[in-house]
Amino acid sequence: DLPPEVYRQAVDQADIAISITDPRANILYANAAFTAITGYSAEEIVGRNESVLSNHTTPARLYQEMWTHLAEQRPWSGRVLNRRKDGQLYLADLTISPVVGHDGTTTHFLGIHRDVTELN
Ligand code: FAD
Repeated sequence: DLPPEVYRQAVDQADIAISITDPRANILYANAAFTAITGYSAEEIVGRNESVLSNHTTPARLYQEMWTHLAEQRPWSGRVLNRRKDGQLYLADLTISPVVGHDGTTTHFLGIHRDVTELN
């Protein structure tokens, strides 16, 4: 088994935006790449909901599909239009995975995203 500090550093330093939320998408953790992409420091984003990233132009249908998957403890991947802290928009390729506890309930969500604006 790897020491927890190794996992911590691997996630902190990964070259892709990573966040961990509670079951209601309130952010508990964000790595350095998340700050680089969104413009929000970990200090200012922790405690806020992932919806602060939404530009509110992604169709509600997409979020309904997302939350239906997550409620069934299935991962979801898709593209959403996000807004950085400075107001600039970017297209995010996003994967959300449920973290399931010993009792079978979803304790957290893991969010991983990258900016794919240039690829489109
Ligand atoms: P919301 O009030 O969240 O609702 C939009 C629709 O989603 C509603 O019609 C409702 O049916 C459904 N819904 C919302 N919450 C739930 C729930 N708990 N259970 C069931 N159905 C629900 N969104 C982004 O736009 N960009 C991101 O980068 C992003 N990253 C995320 C990362 C993680 C780890 C998680 C868990 C969520 C992420 N989200 C992201 C989704 C975000 O939490 C919001 O649901 C989304 O941004 C829509 O916000 P809203 O305020 O417009 O609408």
